Amino acid sequence: MKLSKYLNKILDLGINISAKDPRVREDFYRSNLFFSLAAGLLLCILSLIGLLGTDDPLEAGFIVPEINASFVYALIFGVNLVFLILIHKKRRQVPLKISKYGDNLFSVFLESNMLLASLTFFTTEKGSSFFFEYILVTSIIYLVPNSDLWLFLRLACINLISVVIVLNSFHRELAWQDFTDIIFLHIMCGIVNWFRWIAFMQSENQKALLEQKKDEFYGKSRTDELTGLLNRNALREDFDRLVHHTLCVALVDLDSFKQFNDTFGHAYGDDILQFVSHNLRDTFHDQRDQCYRYGGDELLIISTDHNVERFYKKLKQFQKQNYDYKKQEEVHITLSIGYFRGIPNSEKELRALIKIADRYLYQAKSSGKGQIYGSFTETIDMQEFTEQMSILETLKSMDEAAEVFGQRKLLQKDWTLAYLDVNRFAELNAEFGYREGQNILEQISRSILKHFPNAVLVNREVDHFVLFCECPMDHFIKNIREVQIESADLESQLAIVLRAGIYHHNAADAPVDFLTGMYNAKYASDLARDVTKSDKYLLIYDEAMHEERVKESFVHHKFHQALEAGQFVPYYQPIVGSLSGTTCGFEALSRWIDPEKGLISPNDYIPYLEKMNEAYALDLYFLERVCQDVYKHRELFRDGIFVNVNLSQTDFEIVNIPEEIDRIIKKYQVPKDVIQFEITESAFANTKLLHQVVTDLKNRGYKVWMDDFGVGESSLSAFHNYQVQGVKLDQSFFADVTNKRTQIIIRSIVDLSHDTGSMMIAEGIENQDQLWFARQWGINYIQGFYYSRPVPLDELLKSPFAENLTNEHIDYVYQHAADLSLHSAINMQRLHLTVEKPLLYCKAVLELSGELYLLRADDEMVDLLKENIYTENSKLIFRKDAPITAVLKDAMRSLHSTGNITEFPITLAQIRLRGRVSYLTGLPDHSKIIYVLELSDFQMHFIPA
Ligand code: C2E
Ligand code: MG
Ligand code: MG
Repeated sequence: MKLSKYLNKILDLGINISAKDPRVREDFYRSNLFFSLAAGLLLCILSLIGLLGTDDPLEAGFIVPEINASFVYALIFGVNLVFLILIHKKRRQVPLKISKYGDNLFSVFLESNMLLASLTFFTTEKGSSFFFEYILVTSIIYLVPNSDLWLFLRLACINLISVVIVLNSFHRELAWQDFTDIIFLHIMCGIVNWFRWIAFMQSENQKALLEQKKDEFYGKSRTDELTGLLNRNALREDFDRLVHHTLCVALVDLDSFKQFNDTFGHAYGDDILQFVSHNLRDTFHDQRDQCYRYGGDELLIISTDHNVERFYKKLKQFQKQNYDYKKQEEVHITLSIGYFRGIPNSEKELRALIKIADRYLYQAKSSGKGQIYGSFTETIDMQEFTEQMSILETLKSMDEAAEVFGQRKLLQKDWTLAYLDVNRFAELNAEFGYREGQNILEQISRSILKHFPNAVLVNREVDHFVLFCECPMDHFIKNIREVQIESADLESQLAIVLRAGIYHHNAADAPVDFLTGMYNAKYASDLARDVTKSDKYLLIYDEAMHEERVKESFVHHKFHQALEAGQFVPYYQPIVGSLSGTTCGFEALSRWIDPEKGLISPNDYIPYLEKMNEAYALDLYFLERVCQDVYKHRELFRDGIFVNVNLSQTDFEIVNIPEEIDRIIKKYQVPKDVIQFEITESAFANTKLLHQVVTDLKNRGYKVWMDDFGVGESSLSAFHNYQVQGVKLDQSFFADVTNKRTQIIIRSIVDLSHDTGSMMIAEGIENQDQLWFARQWGINYIQGFYYSRPVPLDELLKSPFAENLTNEHIDYVYQHAADLSLHSAINMQRLHLTVEKPLLYCKAVLELSGELYLLRADDEMVDLLKENIYTENSKLIFRKDAPITAVLKDAMRSLHSTGNITEFPITLAQIRLRGRVSYLTGLPDHSKIIYVLELSDFQMHFIPA
C-alpha cells in the first residue's frame, strides 16, 4: 500500500482516497466477489469442456500421463463449483458484511486456482500447446478479480512454485525460453493488474468526490449560507421528525437590526448576524437543539430537551453573550426573545407553536429592547389555535414573499408596497380578548385580499400586514383607503385605525429589494402615527423621509460611543449688551465632532436624541464640560458674565434635572448664577412637570430663560405662569424687521417682558438694521452672527469678546436704558387728531461718556437727527460740529448744575422744535450717564413723558 501511495505521488494519479477507506473496501470486496463469481463460472465451463473432450483419458499421448486428465478437469470443476456456491451465497448477503471470512474466501479461491493451474499440464496432449490451459487459467485468475500488490505476489509465488514442483516431480525439464515465457506472463499480468488497480482506485476517487459534492450540496441546501444555521428549507424537512415530541421553541430577534444596516452598511449588518449566529450555535450545540435562521434577523431554536430550566438558562446565557460586539465600531446588540413549549401533533400545529413563540416575541419587543417573554407551562389548545389562525396562516411568510418578489422580477419594474399596522392592537386585544383580536386580523386580511386580489400579502409580527403588487400608485392608494375604511367599521365599540405606510418604486430608479421596500414603508407607517404629519394615517415614503431616517439611524447607533469618546464639545457664542456693546454672557452650544463626518450641527442630532429620550445624557455631559471650562477660566466668567446652557424638555421626564444640575455645579464649584438654563418655549406648554422643574431650579438659585420665544403655542400663558430671568426672542422675528406689523408685535412682547420683570435676548441678529431695531425696541442682549458665530473655547479666548466684558454695574445701567418705552401715549393719540398736520413728539436715550451717543430712538427722532449723527463700531455718535450736540451738552450740564430739567428750542430738518433732556440713570462716579431726550413741535405746554 505504501508503494502504491508512493507511485501515486510520483505519477500524480490524483488519487486522494485510501484503500482502507471503508467505502473503498466495500467496493473492492463487492467487485472481487462479482468477478470471482465470473471467473469461477469461466473455469467451470473451461473444465467441463475439457472433461467432455477427454474421451480416452489414460492414453499415453499426454505429456504428463502420471495423473489422469479427467481427474484434473473434474478437480478444477469441483473446486470452482464449491467456490461458486460459497461466493454466490456471500454475494446475496444483504446488507453485505465485509468480513475476514469473505476476504479469506476470496484469496483462498484465487490461491486454489493458482495451484490448479499448474495441474493443467496433465491435460495437455502431445502435439498441442503445452501451456495453453495453464496460461488460460492463470490469466483468468490474475486478471478477472482486482487484487492488490501483496496478493498478486502471493499468487505468483504459489503459481510458480507449484509449476516447478509439478514439473520437477515428474522429471520434466522446461526449455529456458519456456521458463522466461512463464515469468514474462506473470510480469505482464502484474502490470495489467496494477493498471486495473489504479483504474479502480481512480473510479473510487471520483465516486468519493461525487459523494462529497452530494453531501455538500445537501448540506448547503439545508444551511443558511450567511449564518451557517439551518435554513427554512431544513425546517420544512425537519417538521416530520419534530412532530409528536415535546418541544421548546424560541424565536430570537435582533433589536433595531435595520438601523445597524442603515448606519454601517449591509456588510456590517451581516457581520453582526454571523456573530450572533455563532454565539447561538455555541450555546445550543447539543444534539437535541436545532437552530434555524427563520427570517432576515429572526433566529429559531427548537429543542427536544425536556429540561426546561436548562433550556431557559441557555436562552438567557445566549442573550447576555451578545451584548457587546466590536469590530470596526462598538455596538450594543440586544436581543428580544419569545419562547413556548408544547407537543405538536402535526406540521400545522408545529407552525402554530412557532406562531405562539412569535406572539411572545412581539410582546417582548413592544415592552422594550432585550426582553424575554414566554411560558413553559401555559397550555394552549393547539388544534383550536390552528383553526383560528387558518386565514392568517394561508398568508405568505416574509421569505415566501421575497421569493415571489424575485420570481416576478420586480427589481427593475414599477411596484408599490404597503405596510399596514393596527394602531394599539395590544390594547384592543386586552380589551376584547385574544379571540376577537384574531377575528379582527382575519377580517382585515379578507378586506385586503378583496381589494388587492393580485397582491402578495404577508402577516408579520401579529398585527402588521405587508402587501405589494404592480398596480398604479393612485389605484393602490385608493384601495388602501377602502381597506382603512372597512377596518374602521369592524368593531362596533371602537374605530380601528389601520396605519399605512406606502413605498413606491419606479422602474427607472436604482433597484430596491423587497426587504428594503418593506422597511421603508414601515418607517412611513410608524411616522403616520402622528396625525398632524400624516394624511389620515397614511404616509408615502419620500426622499426627505429617507434623509431623516439616515440621520436618525446615525445618531441612534453612534451617540453613546461618541459621548464616551468625548466627541461632543461646547462652542460659545457671545451674548452682547445691545446698548453697551460689551460681552454680557455666552450661549454654550454643543457640536458633535465626528472623526469621519466632521462637525455635526445640533439640529441633526438633538431632535433624534429627544425622540430616543437620550437628550438628558448629552445635556448632563455637556453641562459638565461647560463647568470644566468655566472653572478653568474663572477670570472670564465673573462679574455677572453668564453662560447659558440648553435643556431639552424630554430631560425632565427621565431624570431629576435640578438634582443632577446641583451635583455637577457643586462638583466644579461654579457659582450658581453663572450657569443659566435655556428651556425652549414649547416645553412650557407641558405645564405641570415643567412648573415643578422651573420652580425647583429657581428655589435652588438657578436662572431660567425661555428659548425660541414666539414660535411655540404657549407664549402668553408662559409669561403668566412663570417668573423667568428672560426671554429669547426667536430669530424668525428678525427675518423682516421693516415690516410694521412685526415691529408692533415685537414692541409689545418687549414691553410685556419688561413689565413682568424679565429681560430679552434677540437671537439671530445678522446685520446692522436688525441690531438697530433690537436696540430701538429695548431688547437687552444681542446674540447673532453679526457679532460672532458660536466658536470653540480657544478661539473665543483669543477674540475681542473675551476682553470687552461688561460688569454688573454697567449692565444694571443699561438695563434701565433698555427698559424705557419709547412710544408714549401721545404717539397713539396723535392718530386720532383731526388737525391737518399731526403733532410731533419723539424720544431718544442718550449716553454721555466722552462722546455723546444715541443709544435708542424712535423712528421720528432718527429722521430728525440723521444729519447730525454718524455710525462707528455699531454705535451712533453725535457729530461734534453739529449745533444740536452743543445744545444737548449744554442742557445736560445745566441739568447737573441746577438739578432742573431744562427745555430748549431747536430747529432740526427745518422744523422748529422744543427739546427737553432729563436724567435716566448712570454710574455713581458719573463716568457714564444716561439721559432721555424728548423733542416736540407742540405749541401748547409740554406734556411730560
Ligand atoms: P438655540 O438654543 O435657539 O440656539 C441658537 C441657535 O441659533 C444656534 O444654532 C446658533 O448657532 C444659531 N444662531 C445664532 N446666531 C445666529 C444668526 O445670526 N443667524 C442664524 N441663522 N443662526 C444663528 P445651533 O448651534 O445650530 O443650535 C441649534 C439648536 O440646538 C439650539 O437652538 C438649541 O435648541 C439646540 N442645542 C444646541 N446645543 C444643545 C445642547 O447641548 N442641548 C440641548 N438640549 N439643545 C442644544
Ligand atoms: Mg438656546
Ligand atoms: Mg433659541
